[in-house]
Amino acid sequence: MENCIFCKIVNGEIPSDRVFENDLVLAFLDINPINPGHTLVIPKKHFNSLEEVEPEYLCEMTKIAQKIGSRLKQAIKADGFNLGLNNGKGAGQVVPHVHLHIMPRFKGDGLKLWPGKDISREKMTEIATAMKQSIE
Ligand code: 5GP
Ligand code: ZN
Repeated sequence: MENCIFCKIVNGEIPSDRVFENDLVLAFLDINPINPGHTLVIPKKHFNSLEEVEPEYLCEMTKIAQKIGSRLKQAIKADGFNLGLNNGKGAGQVVPHVHLHIMPRFKGDGLKLWPGKDISREKMTEIATAMKQSIE
């Protein structure tokens, strides 16, 4: 898509540190990493969001994320990794070309997972019921 920064990375108009690519996906290092080795996996075809991405591309993204995560542990001795996908502006998505973050973690890196909230039992049941009805 014209003016999409990640489409420009796919077609080489913007340089990137590529770590893997095939016909469907490209993986490259994030320019502003949360930790060294922070990698993005994107479909080579433009989709704005997770809801739009075609299953063939989504399957390949997750398959490659699994391989890259394991590679990060071997190549840079990461102790683990987090996967992330900011879906929509409301969830902090800045680049509107769907992408998976693979974020290596190291013991003592000081990063924390998001905090939990206390939700009443009634509210939990209400949410689960609403969710069940809307998932086909
Ligand atoms: P989002 O908030 O949309 O999930 O994350 C977008 C990510 O893309 C950010 O972590 C940001 O550092 C990364 N990013 C933005 N522009 C570029 C770029 O031109 N090159 C690379 N390699 N990463 C980018
Ligand atoms: Zn794009």
